Amino acid sequence: MASPWRSGPHGVWEASRVSEPPDFRLEHSELHGDDEFTEYTTTDLPYYSDWRGSFEKLPWAADDDALRAAGADVAIVGAPLDEGTSSRPGARFGPRAIRMAPTAWGSDSAWSIQLDVEPYEHLTVVDAGDAPVVPTRFERALRVIHEKVFRVASAGPVPIVLGGDHSITYPSAAAVARHVWPRKVGIVHFDAHADTGADQWGNLYGHGEPMRRLIEEGWVAGPNFVQVGLRGYWPERETWGWMREQGLRWHTMVEIEQRGSEAVIADAIAEALDGPDCVYLSVDIDVVDPGMAPGTGTPESGGMLARELLRAVRQVVERVDLVGMDVVEVSPPYDHAEVTAILAHRTVMEAISALAARRASSR
Ligand code: MN
Ligand code: MN
Repeated sequence: MASPWRSGPHGVWEASRVSEPPDFRLEHSELHGDDEFTEYTTTDLPYYSDWRGSFEKLPWAADDDALRAAGADVAIVGAPLDEGTSSRPGARFGPRAIRMAPTAWGSDSAWSIQLDVEPYEHLTVVDAGDAPVVPTRFERALRVIHEKVFRVASAGPVPIVLGGDHSITYPSAAAVARHVWPRKVGIVHFDAHADTGADQWGNLYGHGEPMRRLIEEGWVAGPNFVQVGLRGYWPERETWGWMREQGLRWHTMVEIEQRGSEAVIADAIAEALDGPDCVYLSVDIDVVDPGMAPGTGTPESGGMLARELLRAVRQVVERVDLVGMDVVEVSPPYDHAEVTAILAHRTVMEAISALAARRASSR
């Protein structure tokens, strides 16, 4: 039967007969290739099928040679560690959950609506695999995470590390600072918690202490350590005194509520770069309200909106020379409907897209 439709003068399809309605048919509901067995490649298939296990199904580049051969601009690194957790564990499963978040629909064609950029057009992004962490050996884990991140950064790409609890920021940020030395690095740290404790039950390297260790050891200067989103009832007054002595700068949730996130983030960027010329970004997913990021070990009510965090990450990465990043404290056993893993995945994607936008605008 002849089609009742024809192409009009402007390429618009118009009905040639108006006396009868068209038939509603689904006889040709599929487009398919000549060989339907091979028409979709591993990359084309959805994230849950023919799963490579890498972030966004990106190519693996698990050692130094592969990283150099790939000419990677950005490399994902997993740090599956939760031995530093003070409360509810599970963040060791974070890298796997973030990689498997049901959000990747074909990396080749990804396009950021937010930034009007195709990230993979401008950047080569690979997955460098995990640091070789084994359970129960906490200090060894911190050492191999440091070594993994240092090797990745030394091979060229910007490492984006998937935690893991926040203890991984001590070895990871130190590795990036060591790589860029003698350049000085500023740190922008999103978190409900300051993570500047002296110790937790005698342990100096738990997830409540990494920021103090980084400052004490001289990887970053106190005034260039800038915290965003702090709230709740920890740490105690004594630790805030230590933070003031070190010249740390922080922006509480109360300040974000009063001034708005964008103005606060603009200040945070200026403070981190007050001396240094590059930034390490650390995102504890618990900076977001537990209503939007429930899958975390130490939820704290009254946090940022998911969209505020994503916008803030774009704002930071668009304005600074990003030399390293981590997204930590995603604890899948406490997640619901993968909402926290999805947000963590998107946090990484916003950083990658902002890096791509910077690259695109510099061309
Ligand atoms: Mn933290
Ligand atoms: Mn936290």
